[in-house]
Amino acid sequence: MVDRLPEFIDPLHLAEKRAELKGKLFLSSLNRLSDILYSDSGVVNVSLSFSREERLATVAGQIYATLDLICQNCAQPLGWTVHSRFKLGLVNTIAQADRLPADCEPLLCEAGQKLPLKDIVEDELLLALPAFPKHEHPCFALEYLTDKTPADEIDKTDSTENPFALLAKLKKPGDS
Ligand SMILES: [Zn+2]
Repeated sequence: MVDRLPEFIDPLHLAEKRAELKGKLFLSSLNRLSDILYSDSGVVNVSLSFSREERLATVAGQIYATLDLICQNCAQPLGWTVHSRFKLGLVNTIAQADRLPADCEPLLCEAGQKLPLKDIVEDELLLALPAFPKHEHPCFALEYLTDKTPADEIDKTDSTENPFALLAKLKKPGDS
C-alpha cells in the first residue's frame, strides 16, 4: 500500500499482484471535472484493490470527495459530497465486456497496457454527479416568480406589475 498514487497503472499486472493503491489526486488535475466545478481546489481520496477472480481481473474502487458544483439555477456554489464505490472488470474486447457480471463495469485494457489513473478516477466521479445540480431551496427569485405566473400573464402585465421591477426591488440591499 502506498500513499502516493502513480500517474499510470498497468491494471492487469496489479491484479496479478493483488495490489492495493491508496492516495489523493488534486481536483485541479482532472480537466473534464474542473470545467464543471465552481472551485477546483481540494482533492479526491482514492482507494483501489486489484484482484483476480478465476479468469476475471477486477478493480474494486472507492472515491470520496467534497466538491463545489455550480448550481444550475443561480450559478452559485453548491457543496456536494461524492462517496462512490465501483467495481471494474478488465476486458480487452466488447464481447468480454458483455459477459461481465452485473456488478462490474468494463475497463478496456490490453496486457501490459498502462492507463492514466486519473482518467479512471475522473470517469467514476463524473458518473456519480447529478445531471442538473441545484440548491434544494428556491435560490433564484425569477424562477420562483415564473413558476407562479404563466408566461402569457407576464406579457400582459403593465409596468407597475412588471415582474422584473419586482425582482429589482427584491434585490435592492437593505430594502425592507
Ligand atoms: Zn442555486
